[in-house]
Amino acid sequence: MTATTAPTRAIRLYRTPNENGVGVFRITANGQPQFYTLREIRCDIGGRGFAVHRLGMGTLYHVRVGAPEECECECLGFLRWGRCKHILGLRALIQQGQL
Ligand SMILES: [Zn+2]
Repeated sequence: MTATTAPTRAIRLYRTPNENGVGVFRITANGQPQFYTLREIRCDIGGRGFAVHRLGMGTLYHVRVGAPEECECECLGFLRWGRCKHILGLRALIQQGQL
């Protein structure tokens, strides 16, 4: 039996943003769950801005999500590849109407 081994990645909004705008989401990649807090921040240059904090690691990323030219993130993945799981994940949540 052959199994496809495409990397599995899932994002789930864990806690919808509260009255302070802080929510929690989880990205599971290759079976490894990672939790992040998010807070939408003002963004005047197009797209929507989020401060994303990776729990347990103390890493803070500013992520901008919108049209392709409006997407930016501060993580190494984005610097290297021009795309990353933070943008993909937040965009998926926005498309699903969860943010
Ligand atoms: Zn990123």
